[in-house]
Amino acid sequence: MQFLSDNAAAVHPAVWTAMQAADEADAPYDHDSLSRTLDAAFADLFGRDCAALWVASGTAANCLALATLVEPHGGVLCHEEAHIEMDEGGAPGFFLHGAKLMPLPGARGKITPEAIAARRAQVREGVHQVHPHAISITQASEVGCVYRPEEVAAIASAAQAGPGRRLGLHMDGARFANAVAFLGGAPGACLAGVDALSFGFIKNGAMSAEAIVLFDPAAADLARFRRKRAGHLQSKGRFLAAQILAMLKGDLWLANARAANAAAAELGAAAKDRLLHPVEANEVFIACTHDERQALRGAGFAFYDWGDGAARMVTAWDARAQHVAALARALAAL
Ligand SMILES: *Cc1c(COP(=O)(O)O)cnc(C)c1O
Repeated sequence: MQFLSDNAAAVHPAVWTAMQAADEADAPYDHDSLSRTLDAAFADLFGRDCAALWVASGTAANCLALATLVEPHGGVLCHEEAHIEMDEGGAPGFFLHGAKLMPLPGARGKITPEAIAARRAQVREGVHQVHPHAISITQASEVGCVYRPEEVAAIASAAQAGPGRRLGLHMDGARFANAVAFLGGAPGACLAGVDALSFGFIKNGAMSAEAIVLFDPAAADLARFRRKRAGHLQSKGRFLAAQILAMLKGDLWLANARAANAAAAELGAAAKDRLLHPVEANEVFIACTHDERQALRGAGFAFYDWGDGAARMVTAWDARAQHVAALARALAAL
């Protein structure tokens, strides 16, 4: 019974169908009839002008998005547990040509305007220190918590305030769908002031396509050149576009995220005395001993340890009701 991560999940049947349907000759790269509709599809979704590019991993999405905001001598303010800091094997340094990540502490995997201002105040004027060029926030956060629209707006204001240059604002939305499903309301409501969004689909039912959404369409050219240079311009891009369009169609992305979140909520309710973080999206972090984890594994549940005294369980769009119920019972009985 699989609770390791949401990228262990199956590919949604509608995504397979869309890829099969795309299996006819069309123009290569992103000149095909599907890729050419992506800008409009996301502009429709968010009700504002934007440009959208597919890439095949979240790491590439984050780093190419940041490449539109950060110069090689700049820095990126992010949470100390951010995926770009902890889980991307130095890709930000590689794609950004040495730009520095500037990690900040913060409860629930979230950073605050206060932490941003405090860090900026430490940077001396002049060329000797790295100055931040952008802020990156993760929605939902690395511990499954969700920035409220007003929290994002406050960070955007901090990005625009001094000292120094206006900072770009990037959102790592590997689990953006889960965050929107939690918040309800318009998909764009938590994007005020965001310049670039990595919109995740792979963990939510796609196979190999994430979108970089740029709310300044003029930045898209830079991202396109950098995507090619990085070896991420896929020759048969129509198969990536097909996945994204299938996920957007009829708001499949939201339905899938709602299913994942509901399964996590069920686990969270069963383990409520052990929760390390509120369950807002599709991740559940619980305090439990080594022996308790062994017992759960012995009963057939797969999940990651989270340090010495904790475990992480992640649900996905294809969570099976019986497996979720069984884990909920096992957690309640610990
Ligand atoms: C999964 C994930 C990504 C994307 O990871 P890849 O393995 O590069 O696809 C990015 N950010 C967060 C927060 C993630 O959880």
